[in-house]
Amino acid sequence: MHVHASIGSAAYGVPIGRVAAGGASRRRAAPVVPRVVTHRRRSLAVAPPAYGESRPDGTWIEAPTNAFGNLINLAKGQREIVQAGTPILREIAEEVPVEDIDSAKTQELIAEMLAICRGRGVGLAAPQIGVPYRIFVLEDTVEGMSDVSPEDLRSQDRVPFPAKVVVNPVVTPATNLTAAFFEGCLSVQGYRGLVRRWLQVRVQGYGGDGKPVDFVAKGWQARIVQHEMDHLNGVLYVDRMDTRTFRRVDKLAEPMPPDHPEFGAAPREGPCAPGEGVKIGNGTARTAAVSGVDDVEGFIGKKAGKAGKRRKSR
Ligand code: ZN
Repeated sequence: MHVHASIGSAAYGVPIGRVAAGGASRRRAAPVVPRVVTHRRRSLAVAPPAYGESRPDGTWIEAPTNAFGNLINLAKGQREIVQAGTPILREIAEEVPVEDIDSAKTQELIAEMLAICRGRGVGLAAPQIGVPYRIFVLEDTVEGMSDVSPEDLRSQDRVPFPAKVVVNPVVTPATNLTAAFFEGCLSVQGYRGLVRRWLQVRVQGYGGDGKPVDFVAKGWQARIVQHEMDHLNGVLYVDRMDTRTFRRVDKLAEPMPPDHPEFGAAPREGPCAPGEGVKIGNGTARTAAVSGVDDVEGFIGKKAGKAGKRRKSR
């Protein structure tokens, strides 16, 4: 993260020597000019990073100059979101060397991920656009949750938060309580499944500028974090869901199977049973329409309603 300062002073040391050596044959005029140039260049070398800054809670404040980078990315066109079946979604993503986080390559990737996330959902992991790095972004806005009822927002503990970027994340449970809600994934388009997740997790890693981040995510944000973290480990929500709840988006309002697990905010103690699906042991079987479903990555709501009215083409 302090790469700029050290590279700057080393690089800018070189011209002084050259000018002084060249000026040796002309004894009077040479010494004055390079000092002024050196001073100016040094002040440039300690300028703040061009791309943005992270806060300890992972919040990513994009620098205004990054607008230009975003325009370039727009002109280049965004990468496609890869779909389940693509091998990269099953691979363990690579750590990003900390000194590379501030590089143009990584910064352009982060900007692109945020642009895609903003347009389509509330979270995205780098492998979903074909890049095998341990980076995820998340953001939830008032606009994005505008079609979710106040009751559902309450039960999901869903509140808006600004864009967060986490590089090389480490996620650990910060409670022993879990809750089950429907999830979807931009890489498993058109489907949803019920997934039990921790209600609070601690997130440690690096922000978008390479500074350490360490924060506790709760409620819906905690769910998004766990979903994105899974992507970095080659895990999809379908590996964790209650398989009997799996359904197309246009079937979300249909009744659940009679033995479906308890759904909703009611927290319970104990592990999420990662990778084994979710089983409820108390046998509270009932048939009920699914209300209050929402998504982790892609938006549903109105769009899902429209899809439900469309006739299936195949
Ligand atoms: Zn996903």
